[in-house]
Amino acid sequence: MTNIILLGPPGAGKGTQAKRLVDGRGMVQLSTGDMLREAKTSGTEMGNRVAEVMAKGQLVTDEIVIGLIEEKITGHAGGGFIFDGFPRTLAQADALGALLSRTGQTLDAVIEMQVDDTALVARITGRFTCGSCGAVYHDQTKPTAKAGTCDVCGGTSMVRRADDNEDALKQRLMEYYKKTSPLIGYYYAKGKLASVDGLAEMDAVAAAIAKVLDKR
Ligand code: AMP
Repeated sequence: MTNIILLGPPGAGKGTQAKRLVDGRGMVQLSTGDMLREAKTSGTEMGNRVAEVMAKGQLVTDEIVIGLIEEKITGHAGGGFIFDGFPRTLAQADALGALLSRTGQTLDAVIEMQVDDTALVARITGRFTCGSCGAVYHDQTKPTAKAGTCDVCGGTSMVRRADDNEDALKQRLMEYYKKTSPLIGYYYAKGKLASVDGLAEMDAVAAAIAKVLDKR
């Protein structure tokens, strides 16, 4: 079983590529962002605190996200995991390493999706998803064929993330450069890093990722 991390700033295309790997290879997507958005709707005190932090574009505490990942990994041993949006700090990276070795698993590759900031603003601010199946769309680059209706499942509730606005994005980028980008060096030193051009066409990015996976 191959376990990988998709690493890159918000809007790099991690979620989109993760979904393709789920469909194409039967891998399991573990997105801490999705898990936290779910926790947000729980109405618990923890959920409300998380919602506030996320809306500002800041990082949720290591303890919370490590707890979420731990639950998923131990409940689903065997792997084939795509870690999407996790780890985001060195402490999370260390915790993931420990968790995997404790459950007898390995980390096979860390795929860095390289993009530049100007592209990210355009990508993020036009982004919306289907509320039913999670298909990802974009106002300019990937609109639905029929306005307001999902091409994949026919669902009609489209959602935009509360933190997909310019102010929150600036903060999310700052968090990425300060806290997450050191992971590039961390995994390079471990011989796990592979970088792909995240600005290429979606299919070309998928092909580049497939090449990395098939080499492992
Ligand atoms: P994402 O969907 O990956 O862009 O994550 C959305 C938001 O959830 C982030 O801006 C953070 O507030 C929070 N979040 C997601 N994953 C993590 C993580 N690994 N560590 C800390 N905060 C996270």
